[in-house]
Amino acid sequence: MKKNNIDEAIDEMGDAFVSPNTDTPMRKDAFDKTDAEKVEIIQENVKNIMDALGLDLNDDSLKGTPKRVAKMFVHEIFGGLNPKYKPKASTFQNKYKYGEMLVEKDITLYSTCEHHLLPIVGKAHVGYISNGTVVGLSKMNRIVDFYAKRPQVQERLTMQIVKELQEVLGTEDVACVIDAKHLCVNSRGIRDVASSTVTSEYGGRFKDPEARRDFLDYINLETDF
Ligand SMILES: [Zn+2]
Repeated sequence: MKKNNIDEAIDEMGDAFVSPNTDTPMRKDAFDKTDAEKVEIIQENVKNIMDALGLDLNDDSLKGTPKRVAKMFVHEIFGGLNPKYKPKASTFQNKYKYGEMLVEKDITLYSTCEHHLLPIVGKAHVGYISNGTVVGLSKMNRIVDFYAKRPQVQERLTMQIVKELQEVLGTEDVACVIDAKHLCVNSRGIRDVASSTVTSEYGGRFKDPEARRDFLDYINLETDF
């Protein structure tokens, strides 16, 4: 294939390309550099991008942008790449919750599409059937937030949340549904403002249609009191 054709093919594939791997593709040396070193490097490169676009980096409004973007990448929107920021697993035993389905719905989700580096904005709904071990509800929000703070594809994000909760809770019985808008679809390309993408991952007993139905019923419950 000629180079142009490859570029076109990649462009066309866009968000349709999903690696079958649950792990975020990273190099072995990903954390050899300190956060401060990464900020330095990214800052220089953002400067280069803005410079290539012909922007005047001496302008008062623009001169702080490279540093601001670099810090935001490393500490905020891509902070979830670093395992040291992973939320601590604090679980507790509650035998009264044994066999009960617990659902945390409408968890606000901000992530970034790894194909265009544009925002993904939506809601995550997470559920599990307790084997006696439970986690605080805010914990589920923090796990969603941690994996969302990476360059992502929505399918992988959904799987990573389920896998993490399965490990924390010691059960396969975990489910996650994400309903999100991708700004790369909504604001550019075909500019479909209304569309959203729904992905789901069902583990253990959630593969059973009845448990899945229960979970989806919880999600669809009107809880605006
Ligand atoms: Zn995209």
